[in-house]
Amino acid sequence: MNGPAERRACVIGWPISHSRSPIIHNYWLRRYAIEGRYERLPVRPEDLRHFLSDLQGQGFVGCNVTVPHKEEAFRLVEAEGDAALLTSTVNTVFLRDGRPFGRSTDGEGFVGGLVAGVPGWSPRDGTVALLGAGGAARAIAAALAGAGASRIHVFNRTPGRAEAMAGDFGPPVMAARWDDLADTLAEAGLLVNATSLGMEGQPPLEIRLDALPREAVVTDIVYVPLETPLLRAARARGNRTVDGLGMLLHQAVPGFELWFGVRPEVTPELRALVAADIGKG
Ligand code: NAP
Repeated sequence: MNGPAERRACVIGWPISHSRSPIIHNYWLRRYAIEGRYERLPVRPEDLRHFLSDLQGQGFVGCNVTVPHKEEAFRLVEAEGDAALLTSTVNTVFLRDGRPFGRSTDGEGFVGGLVAGVPGWSPRDGTVALLGAGGAARAIAAALAGAGASRIHVFNRTPGRAEAMAGDFGPPVMAARWDDLADTLAEAGLLVNATSLGMEGQPPLEIRLDALPREAVVTDIVYVPLETPLLRAARARGNRTVDGLGMLLHQAVPGFELWFGVRPEVTPELRALVAADIGKG
């Protein structure tokens, strides 16, 4: 039963069974002794409009939005912030005066995970080599540009998507050609895999790291497996690496704060809980 003071949030998607967001938010609810609950809720695409417009009526203070609803949710709620506008997506919906507003927190989560994984990391250290031009890559480019990165070279299987991204963002985001990857890596301070390559069940990401300086940081947003072949290869040659779990945990921070009024901490205990769940497959 819901107590009168209980605040409820949820993650919606179709299907939704794989989401790890309940582990994260319910951990924080326990840790901060907040009377609340965070659920997984399957919502069909044809029901999304009604669900978001009646969030309050259904007893929710907000929700996370995942595949396949992020783009449609952007159109249905009032989107806030550059990250939402540059990605045309929202992943976090909250109520203001009873009306649904949305933000995209993936980019913020990416930078949060990076700073936690490599204390002292600076966006100004060299060029960023960004692989991928999908929704996650856009969110990351927006956050890195906002943090002060001076050059972000985007490599993508479908070059037109990287070009569209460069056109939408403007400098420092530039579309790059795969033939020039080694030249970009030679001056890179950060290499990011924001494609789905390397994920369990997907083909591996096959690139040569020879040109990459040893001081560069290598990060993969794929988190199943936690150590992707890219991260393993980078670690073996002495680069510092950051896995995709940091992004997953840190993207949840703004939503929790908006819904429950406490800015939560990403603790080693939380990381271990989610890592254990990923390990279960
Ligand atoms: P998306 O919009 O579908 O983009 C997928 C990207 O991967 C595109 O750049 C696509 O290139 C590329 N790609 C897919 N298959 C490929 C292949 N066989 N060869 C070369 N490139 C390929 O997906 P997304 O939302 O950006 O997500 C990308 C990955 O990030 C997913 O694995 C997702 O699980 C992960 N992710 C992690 C977090 C986190 O918190 N750690 C958050 C969001 C996403 P084309 O443009 O050529 O198709």
